[in-house]
Amino acid sequence: MTLLTKNQITELCVFIEKRIEKKGCDHSLKNTFEWAEKKGIDIADLIDVLEFNGGFCDCEVTMNLPEDCDLQLVAGYKELDLKNPFKIPLNFQQTENKIYTKALFSSPEYAHNNYTKNEELIIPAPFGFKPKKRVRKSMHFFNGTESELPTEIGVVKEIEPINGKEFAKKIRDLKLKSFMNFSERDAEYYFSRIEKIDIGKPMGTHFMEKSGIGGTKIDLKIHKVIFRK
Ligand SMILES: [Zn+2]
Repeated sequence: MTLLTKNQITELCVFIEKRIEKKGCDHSLKNTFEWAEKKGIDIADLIDVLEFNGGFCDCEVTMNLPEDCDLQLVAGYKELDLKNPFKIPLNFQQTENKIYTKALFSSPEYAHNNYTKNEELIIPAPFGFKPKKRVRKSMHFFNGTESELPTEIGVVKEIEPINGKEFAKKIRDLKLKSFMNFSERDAEYYFSRIEKIDIGKPMGTHFMEKSGIGGTKIDLKIHKVIFRK
């Protein structure tokens, strides 16, 4: 579905340029939103399309949006995967009875689409899970294990030593929809990504899609995040 036509993009850029010519860009999407509201364009859909094209503020919208094509709505949430809900890589090898001492927690220091309570234990949401608050569609997210609300960033913290099996049971016992099927294998993969990362380091999560013989393969990644100052 087309969200912005070529002509609308030009119109939007002219509108923004007139505004920021005088006052400069305050690195928000203020003027973009004002224009979109007048045109009756859905703001949440618009943010997704703009972010996908590198338009995180008014000046970036004018610089980064393509000039010669319509912009389509980013595809919506995908179907849940019942066999492998968290998309753990198929070649991941579990280690029986290994003890882990680190997990991820949300942090007020990282406010990137963070709707969790402060310092909740967080776990990636299953593939296709619709977040209860808006996050960027170009990213995956963690859910808080108390609030079940999303955050894009977590930090590594120490926990009481635990193995994958016990941890998975604890998480399932929370009776949250997103973690109902959180298995020992899912727990082992989660811990294995974190165990070598230093305490206090921020981490994010995304899905890596690879197309090849036999179709598209989607793997969960949990990775260090480096912030540019
Ligand atoms: Zn800007």
